[in-house]
Amino acid sequence: MRILIVEDDANLNRQLKEALSEAGYAVDVAFDGEEGHFLGDTEPYDAIILDIGLPQMDGLSVLEEWRRAGKTTPVLLLTARDRWSDKVQGIDAGADDYVAKPFHMEEVLARLRALVRRAAGHASNEIVAGSVRLDARSGKVTVDGQAIKLTSHELRLLSYLMHHKGKVISRTELTEHLYDQDFDRDSNTIEVFVGRLRKKLPDTCIQTVRGLGYQILED
Ligand code: CA
Repeated sequence: MRILIVEDDANLNRQLKEALSEAGYAVDVAFDGEEGHFLGDTEPYDAIILDIGLPQMDGLSVLEEWRRAGKTTPVLLLTARDRWSDKVQGIDAGADDYVAKPFHMEEVLARLRALVRRAAGHASNEIVAGSVRLDARSGKVTVDGQAIKLTSHELRLLSYLMHHKGKVISRTELTEHLYDQDFDRDSNTIEVFVGRLRKKLPDTCIQTVRGLGYQILED
């Protein structure tokens, strides 16, 4: 899952980036409203963390522009002011959730997980495909109840496919959603990771749809 952080406080931006990277997300960052608006408009994020008070263009205007343009990416607003009117304005502008500063990083991570899974149509943190179970909260994967060990790249890949099970996902989409902007995007990398992942999963788990991409079937 690929996340955009738009936060002008350099320190907070860095802390968020570290926490999210550690939690297994690919992360891009912006430090002002214009840059954030541009990235959110042009790159396919799975969720966006957006501060309200930003230079160049304030967070609510950025959000309104995205929604006017038809962008449905889940947005978690950060507000420095714990005022109900800001929350109402934020929700009206199209925010999916908000966290008031100062916040605990765990709360941001929990709200983000919920946004990502709801956007993909899952009601709980546990996603099941046949004998494979993914706990999106802990990142633990089991096959027939047995825990299996995955690298962070393998987990990202499996998590994306499980969140979107039933759909055919192209290699381009995987590359765009699993890696940040600066990553060297060689589409062969995806094939290598799919190959490694398949060795750890039941044979039929990840299907290749010739010429289109990969798919984990609905049960
Ligand atoms: Ca700010």
